[in-house]
Amino acid sequence: MKLSVVIPCYNERDTLRTLVEAVRVSPCTPDEIIVVDDGSTDGTRAILDTEIAPLVQRVILHEANQGKGAALRTGIGAATGDIVIIQDADLEYDPNEYPVLVEPIRAGRADVVYGTRFGAGRSPSMFLRQRVANRVLTRLSNLFTGLRLTDMETCYKVFRREIVQAIRIEEDRFGFEPEITAKIARTGCRVHEVPISYRGRSYAEGKKIGWKDGVRAILCIAKYSPPLYASLRDRLAARLRGGSSRRPVADADDGPA
Ligand code: UDP
Ligand code: MG
Repeated sequence: MKLSVVIPCYNERDTLRTLVEAVRVSPCTPDEIIVVDDGSTDGTRAILDTEIAPLVQRVILHEANQGKGAALRTGIGAATGDIVIIQDADLEYDPNEYPVLVEPIRAGRADVVYGTRFGAGRSPSMFLRQRVANRVLTRLSNLFTGLRLTDMETCYKVFRREIVQAIRIEEDRFGFEPEITAKIARTGCRVHEVPISYRGRSYAEGKKIGWKDGVRAILCIAKYSPPLYASLRDRLAARLRGGSSRRPVADADDGPA
């Protein structure tokens, strides 16, 4: 199956080249790498033509900064592979882990795979406030979607292309993560989690997500998920029938309680 990697990039002069090189030598060699430059002003633009373009299949430019969701709307729309991986342009996630991420789709067991930073025995390097925010947002998202994720906000989201291209991405910024999760849940397709590693960066190193994005995430969970009432009703009905109300989310070795 052909693999497309979509890289949203805004002011990542210090990491973009190293990241793209790591993607190219991933054990799961991508067939297509698409970099979407989201209006960088830090000098990233200057290296796109000279250093980056020769290493990738496509470079797409946003004239002005619009946000990660907007960059992904553009990049996902341009993808032609059978499988699409989202890859941030910093070095927080490791492209060596693509084989684990694509395996459930290649094996026909899943349509969507999330890489969780909170798998058993993992201790991702992450600030406490970020850890708490991730936990709260993931639990809230699960409540609305009926999914049983441990890391909704992860960058490593992998999709069968036709599934993700059928979704209209409305959020321009980091609201993309809860929005896509909610809309994927509504399709009823098979979502798996696999454990991945993570080395978080600081704001000094270029991190852009902030507390306002956390607030926006809560609004997006409510806005894009199936109505809470319908979700609770379905789960209650399943429980009364004696079955499990959870959709099968496998592979993560530590599901939430
Ligand atoms: N990004 C983007 N446009 C923006 C902000 C971020 O394309 O306006 C990209 C950024 O370059 C990175 C990814 O989105 O590749 C995630 O951003 P960041 O690492 O700051 O967020 P976090 O890792 O905290 O989710
Ligand atoms: Mg990041």
